[in-house]
Amino acid sequence: MDSGAEQYRYLQVYEHLTHHPGVAFTEATPLPVELRSTLEKLGASVLRETARRSSQDGTTKLLLTGADGACIETVIMRYSQRVTACVSTQVGCPVGCAFCATGALGFRRNLSAAEIVDQVRSVIAVLRSEDRTLSNVVYMGMGEPLLNLQAVLTSIRLLTDPLGIGMGHRSLSVSTVGIPAGIRRLADEEPQVNLAISLHAADDRLRALLIPAKYCHPLAEVLNAAWDHFALTRRKLLVEYVLLGGVNDSPEDARRLAALLKGHVVAVNLLAWNRVTSSPDESLSAAEGRPSLESRPSLESRPSDTPSRTPTQNHSPVGFRPATREAIEGFRSILVNHHIETVVRQSKGSGIDAACGQLAARRRSYPAETPPADGSPPFIETPPD
Ligand code: SF4
Repeated sequence: MDSGAEQYRYLQVYEHLTHHPGVAFTEATPLPVELRSTLEKLGASVLRETARRSSQDGTTKLLLTGADGACIETVIMRYSQRVTACVSTQVGCPVGCAFCATGALGFRRNLSAAEIVDQVRSVIAVLRSEDRTLSNVVYMGMGEPLLNLQAVLTSIRLLTDPLGIGMGHRSLSVSTVGIPAGIRRLADEEPQVNLAISLHAADDRLRALLIPAKYCHPLAEVLNAAWDHFALTRRKLLVEYVLLGGVNDSPEDARRLAALLKGHVVAVNLLAWNRVTSSPDESLSAAEGRPSLESRPSLESRPSDTPSRTPTQNHSPVGFRPATREAIEGFRSILVNHHIETVVRQSKGSGIDAACGQLAARRRSYPAETPPADGSPPFIETPPD
């Protein structure tokens, strides 16, 4: 935009970008025609939608592409009373959890605050056509938010700006694998934003098998940071626990988790693992020096004397299996019997590769790079009414 424009024009452009996502600048009637046409040529987004998939359970996954061609995933989850957007913070993820499709992609780069906010704008544009509004944003897509914390904090400020998108701080949640320093900084700078920690195991030895050593901080340090977060914010801690059949879903695992959390203000989300199919991008992993899937031994062979910080590249995501319904229910009952608020989350969007990273991993199998000329995105399977 011409830096010689009057100051109030900047506010008008900002209002258009944040109040009317997806609406062309040519429709921004408060702006002079010449400025509208200049802005339209510049474009309103740093991301463009290159694919969209929807499933019958109300989940839509958007594949957005950055100026450098990086693929970014955003998921829309529709419930009867609310709609949640799950946004990515990185292209790929440096953490590389053993069961995660994004981890198998490797790490490309951090997203900018503008790219994070643009994901939310894209979601709002989709919802506008359905006459629905966005209720919540969870930083739970591709990447570890606390490893890109400055951009995350800036995006939170933009999303909650009352002059802009205007979301409430309490409708935002940041999910982390457990980076103690990041948890403390988040508490200091955004105390009203919810914190979710992905524990996935209740002892260090098992956790180290699922999360690579570099980012697998000892549980005591992670939970101390979480309790400090609560002391400062008074926000209930959300604990995410992905149940993997025969790995972390035993009654003993549940009792250990209950012992860790008892007496604290927490809610546990038990997540049925979303099966990761073999990735067409395995060549990417190999090119970046990750071990081949075949070279990774089975988790089932976990020895009892495994050191607590064993790297996890040893496990194939395709080697895991979902926990059975009986195991999930048994796990939940033990937590509830210890008076721990527990919810079993259904896996949404399993038919559309909705586990983070799965759609990007399939990117090469897309027949079209760009939406069709008529403006409709490819791969739309509209959910039934
Ligand atoms: S589960 Fe989260 S932190 Fe772990 S590899 Fe996947 S995106 Fe990264």
